[in-house]
Amino acid sequence: MSTFSTEFIAMPLTIEQKILELREELNQHNYNYYVLDNPTISDFDFDLKLKELEKLETENPQFFDANSPTQRVGGEITKNFVTVTHKNRMYSLDNSYSKEDLLDWEKRIQKIIGTEEISYTCELKYDGASINLSYQNGVLVSAVTRGDGFQGDEVTANIKTIKSIPLVLKEPFLENFEIRGEIILPFDGFNKMNEERIDIGEEPYKNPRNTASGSLKLQDSAEVAKRPLDCLLYHIVADKNPIATHFETLEKARLLGFKVPDAIKVCKSMEDVFLFIEKWNTKRFDLPYETDGVVVKVNLLAQQDELGYTAKSPRWAIAYKFKTEQESTILNEITYQVGRTGAITPVANLEPVELAGTTVKRASLHNADQIEKLDIRVGDTVFVEKGGEIIPKVVGVDLEKRPLNSVPTNYITHCPDCNTKLVRTEGDAKHYCPNEYGCPTQITGRIQHFISRKAMNIDGIGAETIELLFKEGLIANYADLYELKEEQIIPLERMAEKSAQNIIVGIEKSKEIPFEKVLFALGIRFVGETVAKKLAKHFKSIDNLMKASFDELITVDEIGERIAKSVIDFSNNLVNIQQVERLKSYGVQLEVSAESLQNTSTILQGKIFVVSGVFTHFDRNELKKSIEDNGGKVASSISSKTTYVIAGDNMGPSKLAKAESLGVPIITEYDYLKLLE
Ligand code: AMP
Ligand code: ZN
Repeated sequence: MSTFSTEFIAMPLTIEQKILELREELNQHNYNYYVLDNPTISDFDFDLKLKELEKLETENPQFFDANSPTQRVGGEITKNFVTVTHKNRMYSLDNSYSKEDLLDWEKRIQKIIGTEEISYTCELKYDGASINLSYQNGVLVSAVTRGDGFQGDEVTANIKTIKSIPLVLKEPFLENFEIRGEIILPFDGFNKMNEERIDIGEEPYKNPRNTASGSLKLQDSAEVAKRPLDCLLYHIVADKNPIATHFETLEKARLLGFKVPDAIKVCKSMEDVFLFIEKWNTKRFDLPYETDGVVVKVNLLAQQDELGYTAKSPRWAIAYKFKTEQESTILNEITYQVGRTGAITPVANLEPVELAGTTVKRASLHNADQIEKLDIRVGDTVFVEKGGEIIPKVVGVDLEKRPLNSVPTNYITHCPDCNTKLVRTEGDAKHYCPNEYGCPTQITGRIQHFISRKAMNIDGIGAETIELLFKEGLIANYADLYELKEEQIIPLERMAEKSAQNIIVGIEKSKEIPFEKVLFALGIRFVGETVAKKLAKHFKSIDNLMKASFDELITVDEIGERIAKSVIDFSNNLVNIQQVERLKSYGVQLEVSAESLQNTSTILQGKIFVVSGVFTHFDRNELKKSIEDNGGKVASSISSKTTYVIAGDNMGPSKLAKAESLGVPIITEYDYLKLLE
């Protein structure tokens, strides 16, 4: 008889065990958060654990695993996606639009199956981009787009950044199988992405589906990682599938760790199918993502086999397309809006109409081409649709109802606000008002951006106040804000002593806002929050930034030619130079504060580094930060301007060859530490 049980001896974990344990824990937290939508740990604690794992992995590269949760941040660049032939063809679905269509389908399959009973599963048709995931021995090995159904593009590096897709299954299943699903972009995330785009003066994306499918083909997987993509699964393909019904395969998929929506039902009859369709025809508007129909599938897999495929699609499944919510109404007027960047948007002002539960008075007309293509005219009866976008759109004209006296629409040639002749550059669908510094809407738009929460965060002033102050001639640019006096504000409409005081205090307080936010507030095109941070950190002051050459700008991590050009345009403009000087004279922070300059040196000034591989002493980001904190620059690719390449383990062979051919010295992280001494 043994005297003690091993349970009572606390054995210290080996490093490998610790790493495995952390990976499992983090996988579970990802699953709770992204699949179950039910996190059990704070973001902060999650990040701490992830950092801990990252550190252990960099210190112990022998335990590297491509499927570790640390690999979700992306970073791999794919210049050309490899075309891959699907092991099992990815078919389309036949469409149906009515109960009759569905009953016809039922008759067709009953003919083949005979007297045996048929039951169906109903699931929603998710509107995104289809993807085929292959798993081998429990880990994700490849992800391929549908392509033409026979061949698709391998996008594994990008897909791995989507956190609701398990890189490692939660329980063992077959040695090999494929699972298919739809990559989607939920409305929330889509709207957030668009807010950010509007912030930097870019056109918002049109709809979630196209944005999701475009994301799969981005070259930089780190960019994909930033997009809030999701994946909903609907089909398992396996040679030796031990499961009997489609419904059970979906339940199995859930157990394996996949996200399978709850809106799935087994239906014993077509009547039940109709009920499901009716229910979701309206309930779908409450879902966080876009759906465009219901997919009805024969539930028994043996019956599916028996039914087989036509040249294009399975006989055992059919899609029922929801009718797009469409109404017709009269177009009363076309008005034109000017954005902060001068972009003109035509807007349809409609006779109010009920559409998908809301009253619609205005709809988007996109641009001049769209108006011309559809020949949309004032007085027309137009069809309005509500799709994935928040704003409904005009999709066509009821020509039979066109009034006799109707005249074609002449798109405006001059800005509705300042009457400047509009310009349209090649390849751009939009017209722009080029009167950047004289056009009222552009001026107020720029000041409104300046005071906004993520920029100077000036309390006490809202968008309307800016318009009022501008109309009264008290401000004509953001620098003017700092000259405002209480006495000037008090007499204005809806103002009182207290509100005027608040405004002055708010403006005064904005002088403490750190440089990086001020830089964002200046409203330089394409300089959003993150880019502003990068530039502030790198150049340390507005003077350095405005003096920087194009070449200097593009050596900064993540700063491309487009941003560099925009910064140069801004810096060369006399109006901007004067305004920046004025802001400086009022005490606005136009350089990095002394405090954040501590712990830094200029020892690496003028030196340009490229960092490649896995490091022991530093984690990669720490190393980059250290270089920048000491005045050096980090570039993403090797050129003749590179001073040193710091190479860790597993440095890419092409980088190595490039460094050697250009004669750029390759040093280790320890050599780097010596440079700092
Ligand atoms: P279609 O593109 O109209 O031929 O429809 C087929 C596509 O619908 C498939 O390639 C899938 O990407 C997509 N789909 C979305 N939801 C489902 C679902 N629940 N079951 C099967 N396919 C779906
Ligand atoms: Zn204008």
